[in-house]
Amino acid sequence: MQRIAVVGSGPSGIYAAQALVAHPLLPGVRVHVLDRLPCPYGLVRYGVAPDHEKIKSLQQSLRAVLEHERVTFVGNVPVGGDGVSPEQLGGLYQAVVYCVGAATDRPLGIPGEELPGSHSATDFVSWYSAHPDAAAGRFALRARSVVVIGIGNVAVDVARILARGADELRPTDVPEPALGALAGSRVREIHMAGRRGPSQARFTTKELRELGALPGARITVDPAELVLDPAYAGTAPGSPPLPAMVRRNLDVLRGWAADASADGRTPARTIGLRFYLRPVALLERRGRVAGVRFARTAPDGTGGVRDTGTFEEIDAQLVLRAVGYRGMPLPGLPFDPVRGTVPHLAGRVLRGAVPSPGQYVAGWIKRGPTGVIGSNRSCAKETVASLAEDAPLLAGRPAAPDPVAALRAYGLRPVEWDGWLSIERAEAALGRSLGRGPVKIPDWPGLMDAARGDSLA
Ligand SMILES: Cc1cc2nc3c(=O)[nH]c(=O)nc-3n(C[C@H](O)[C@H](O)[C@H](O)COP(=O)(O)OP(=O)(O)OC[C@H]3O[C@@H](n4cnc5c(N)ncnc54)[C@H](O)[C@@H]3O)c2cc1C
Repeated sequence: MQRIAVVGSGPSGIYAAQALVAHPLLPGVRVHVLDRLPCPYGLVRYGVAPDHEKIKSLQQSLRAVLEHERVTFVGNVPVGGDGVSPEQLGGLYQAVVYCVGAATDRPLGIPGEELPGSHSATDFVSWYSAHPDAAAGRFALRARSVVVIGIGNVAVDVARILARGADELRPTDVPEPALGALAGSRVREIHMAGRRGPSQARFTTKELRELGALPGARITVDPAELVLDPAYAGTAPGSPPLPAMVRRNLDVLRGWAADASADGRTPARTIGLRFYLRPVALLERRGRVAGVRFARTAPDGTGGVRDTGTFEEIDAQLVLRAVGYRGMPLPGLPFDPVRGTVPHLAGRVLRGAVPSPGQYVAGWIKRGPTGVIGSNRSCAKETVASLAEDAPLLAGRPAAPDPVAALRAYGLRPVEWDGWLSIERAEAALGRSLGRGPVKIPDWPGLMDAARGDSLA
């Protein structure tokens, strides 16, 4: 085979490219990694929290793949919508691996969700990560009390960024407008609430512990809310033991609950971890969100929860929902609206029960928004193994001699590796001008100017 496109330069796309150029059945194959953004790395750049420098530094190993002599990064190429269609791509490459992620949020589906002051965690994360689609100035952080709905790692990220002082984030690549808003933040109380109990919380212990280590923030946990479903407490005869991560989480939470005694200091911010609260409505005052009404739940003995018939309201001028991500359909590709993924068989796109030749998926759009960055490596490898098996069938297909020129002819303005390097230089220069390390450029015009080398920074 000669030419394969990977759509999406997040971890799954880059791991797919890495597996493709290393596969013994695909000698000499050339891979173009396309992305709708002019910047590579997907959620590693635009999702992983800025204060998680070690995970962010994974970009260095992803970069090595994009610098491989047979891999080419081609940014600013949206597939679908106003961009190039999957059908057109199929004419340029012998096979296409879709790794477009699942970056849309799940709604709560409750009254008041559309009120000003109610946002998805996706929007908030995009804002502090300088995603160019995030509306500038969206989060002024004038709220005194914030409710974060969700008890997973994204909810923890959002709570932690809200609780950190701007000084702690200045050494990171947080964009200037977000840093300014965080510096002027009036947030004092952060309430993180989930409808289920602590043994069903999805956060990992490392992320949870980090909350307790924040200077200037105090964690509050109500011991009464640490009750476990007796059938899932790991204590009933014959019941399975609690998973190690849950046990560790419970140890941390119980430690905080026992340490309710204030140490005399007034913390700048409190983070309340709340369980068994199911949001039923967002409350409104003067046309804006003013709080959340929760139904109190209790364990139902089968690992789920039931409503108890009692309610609780928490005041909040900002509500962020972090209840999961969802894939979006790509026009021209099949889509399972229930799972929010593209149906596949070991990575081969399925139309009905039939594999669609030359079309593959990997990453979150293949298996849904679960797992850590490393999970995408094995996922991509499985897909590439399927593609390599199909190679004898695909090799006879035509491929454009110069797909990037063809993309230009379709009216697109691809940003290639040099353009991305130019953005990196502009971000370093911007940081220097502010007395900081590299600082992300948060808007489309700024990124495109920088890609052309026109940046003034
Ligand atoms: C807020 C947040 C924080 C996270 N933090 C961590 C963490 O600390 N540690 C960890 O291990 N994991 C973390 N994860 C999970 C990790 O980011 C994912 O496992 C991983 O990014 C999924 O990889 P992906 O390639 O499938 O999708 P993505 O990373 O989303 O990449 C998809 C890429 O496709 C591009 N794309 C989308 N649509 C199109 C289109 N139509 N045309 C062209 N290109 C397109 C996007 O621009 C993007 O670059 C986090 C996730 C989130 C949401």
